[in-house]
Amino acid sequence: MRKRRTCLKCGESFVSGGAANRICAECRRLNDRWPLPELLLQLQRGVMRRNGRLIGAALLQAGARRRR
Ligand SMILES: [Zn+2]
Repeated sequence: MRKRRTCLKCGESFVSGGAANRICAECRRLNDRWPLPELLLQLQRGVMRRNGRLIGAALLQAGARRRR
């Protein structure tokens, strides 16, 4: 039975192949190729807080700067 679902990763709607299928094909492909480190998973959950300050954004900016 096919059903439209919202991807847990990117938020796009897609046609799910089953009840356990909550991630779209594109995100699953990316996941296989590049497993998300725990850091990014925590960033997505918005739990990267220390001493009441959000540190995830600073870490992401540092990473973006290093890539240049
Ligand atoms: Zn997706």
